[in-house]
Amino acid sequence: MCFSCNSSSPHNPINCIIPPHMLRVMAMRGDASTAKMARSMLKQNEKVREERADQSSGGMVPADGPPGSFVSAAVMRGGAEQHIIDRQIYDGERKASLPGTLIRAEGDPATGDEEVDAAYDGAGDVFDLYSSQYSRNSLDGEGLPLVATVHHRRNYNNAFWNGSQMAYGDGDGEIFRTFTELSVIGHEMSHGVVQYSGGLLYQGQSGALNESYSDVFGSLTVQKKLGQSVSEASWLVGEGILGPNINGTALRSMRAPGTAYSDSLLGQDPQPYHMDLFVNTTDDNGGVHINSGIPNHAFYLYCQYMGGNAWEGPGRIWYLALQRINNPMATFNDWAQQTMEAAVELNGNGSMEMVMLRRAWKLVGIAV
Ligand SMILES: [Zn+2]
Repeated sequence: MCFSCNSSSPHNPINCIIPPHMLRVMAMRGDASTAKMARSMLKQNEKVREERADQSSGGMVPADGPPGSFVSAAVMRGGAEQHIIDRQIYDGERKASLPGTLIRAEGDPATGDEEVDAAYDGAGDVFDLYSSQYSRNSLDGEGLPLVATVHHRRNYNNAFWNGSQMAYGDGDGEIFRTFTELSVIGHEMSHGVVQYSGGLLYQGQSGALNESYSDVFGSLTVQKKLGQSVSEASWLVGEGILGPNINGTALRSMRAPGTAYSDSLLGQDPQPYHMDLFVNTTDDNGGVHINSGIPNHAFYLYCQYMGGNAWEGPGRIWYLALQRINNPMATFNDWAQQTMEAAVELNGNGSMEMVMLRRAWKLVGIAV
């Protein structure tokens, strides 16, 4: 789905923010250089897809502690354990090789390069969300340094997590303005959290859950940073990254999947919000960026029922469900069931949280 890179291996997933259905329209309708870039990203995708078949076993890293560790560890820590952040932002100098030249290390002052400073600050916001709310020490739970490359390739219209670092293109200025937007940063880094939490195979429903988890925590990163309540949040992923002449507000909408963009070049946002509209396709690893609209919308609905801050109660349920699921091939039903169990574990059987969560899943066509 995107250019792979020299540091990628078959055992590391490459998770891009831009799905192939967008690339395909760019390849057909874009100008010569846009079309060329999109074609080569699509070609690379074919190769990556074959490599991904191996990832279910080899790419998995053991979960952060044995089952049952989340609550007890959180209690033991009580916020007292120091999580030390270690950011390393590299300048890719518009070349393909990773990581490039180290330009801002932890504690260094702002550089004045907008992309560098946005990647640095954004990594800090994501680290803070996981540390302060879910007692997680970086993406792997063990203080993993946060490595990111900005200015990756020339006019590159994508951003990705390659299994060990983030990389951000500058965009071509026409279709995409930038990729160092906070929800995109939170999305890509959350792919790292999924990877180190036992993984969700990047194919079909489990792949759409992987995408949805990343959208949820990308959005929560923005909401916490801006101090937005459930009703104040935009619930958009990639808000403001589309170019000036593109008709759309974002890459995806959790409030109204399928409405993020409608453009002569980019086409129509294809996301469904209900199981009745589930898209069966072999494209996009079985629609991982498409059907993620369904669990995205369930999370949004649940947050609306509960009010307040989504990164608190609802975020804790989703995070705990990821720690507990222990099933890389989980279906939407498996995941919904796991969130119900997490709601019971955190709030008690028969709690309001449990009742409202069941209602949210039912509204997107999933019975638990
Ligand atoms: Zn993704």
